[in-house]
Amino acid sequence: GAASDILRRRADFPILARTVDDRPLVYLDNGATSQKPQCVIDAEAHYYAHLNANVHRGVHRLSQEATDAYEAARDTAQAFINAAQREEVVFVRGTTEAINLVANSFGARFRTGDEILITGMEHHSNIVPWQLACERSGAVLKVVPVDDDGELDVAAFAALLSPRTRIVGLTHVSNALGTINPVRELTARAHARGVPVLLDGAQAVPHLAIDVQALDCDFYAFSGHKLYGPTGTGVLYGRRALLEAMPPWQGGGDMIRQVSFERTTYNDLPYKFEAGTPNIAGAIALGEAMRYVCDVGFDAIAAHEAALLRDATERARAFPGLRLIGTAREKAAILSFVLADVHAHDVGSILDHEGVAVRTGHHCAMPLMERFGVAATVRASFALYNTHEDVAALFAALAKVREVFGDA
Ligand code: PMP
Repeated sequence: GAASDILRRRADFPILARTVDDRPLVYLDNGATSQKPQCVIDAEAHYYAHLNANVHRGVHRLSQEATDAYEAARDTAQAFINAAQREEVVFVRGTTEAINLVANSFGARFRTGDEILITGMEHHSNIVPWQLACERSGAVLKVVPVDDDGELDVAAFAALLSPRTRIVGLTHVSNALGTINPVRELTARAHARGVPVLLDGAQAVPHLAIDVQALDCDFYAFSGHKLYGPTGTGVLYGRRALLEAMPPWQGGGDMIRQVSFERTTYNDLPYKFEAGTPNIAGAIALGEAMRYVCDVGFDAIAAHEAALLRDATERARAFPGLRLIGTAREKAAILSFVLADVHAHDVGSILDHEGVAVRTGHHCAMPLMERFGVAATVRASFALYNTHEDVAALFAALAKVREVFGDA
């Protein structure tokens, strides 16, 4: 059946065969980065073994083949997010770079008193670039509050949209809570006020099929490394009319048409935003990762991960002294919690001794931690290759924590 089909996929990930102190690895830190299937590792190696050359430059065969493979990866990415045009797909280093690009380039038009609307559950990557834009322009940051379940206050969102709002920066899925935000509805509300929307899709792309046209967002940012692809890769989707009107962010090779000391003209989209030699091997391997997840299928991934989350949530609710942080109705497979008075870091260390890898800390969402009155949480985040045995191993290890620290 479907469940066993997806479990067979574990064999595609060589790292899952390794041990930690002679214990099998239980990898539950997928929100930080996911493991890579052999086909992605092979795609990167194949590029260096057979194609390596710089792109868009040479007339020689290798350069042509490398360019073809790199541009084919762009087509794959375009299809993956259902962008209307390939020119709307900009390869970047990751979500962080994508948001910085927009905050700098789109943000170049911000003026004193303009407003940037973000939410209380953003990753620092969707906070700090906007704060920097505020410092440059005199714009003001406004923040949508988060309720006790870790859901956005939609009425407050609507009320905070003002005639001065220039952009909304909103996470699709919260990395620290797992909340899936109603981004389509919120985007429609912003558009009703003429405000463009950037969605941070870093935690959404591994779990949900993305259709930027259906979402109707103006920008969509994500990283390759959380999507079973290589580090140092990512995509910025931008609506063509907006990208055309935006100035370049970084200057250098590939982004120019003509350079003189008097005047430089810029290349067409998407190259205007791809200064310098890109991560060619990475983009090609990211394309392979996209093909891989589509082959597994988002329906199968969603069903499997929902079952894991249900299992983990039930065990968590029954676990003495455990407080879940993030109990939204719509959640991706991310379980964030604190254990009575035990510091999250101590929980993480004991879990590590048991071979269980989780994230502990503020998850680059310090304002959100403050909102919930905690310094840090323990976060278990699931991927398509995780199993119910992994969930059981997590809670067996948490029982060890209780043995060490008592009932606290
Ligand atoms: N936004 C969210 C919601 C994230 O989870 C992350 C990664 N933890 C980022 C942005 C930043 O991604 P990257 O470090 O790959 O640029």
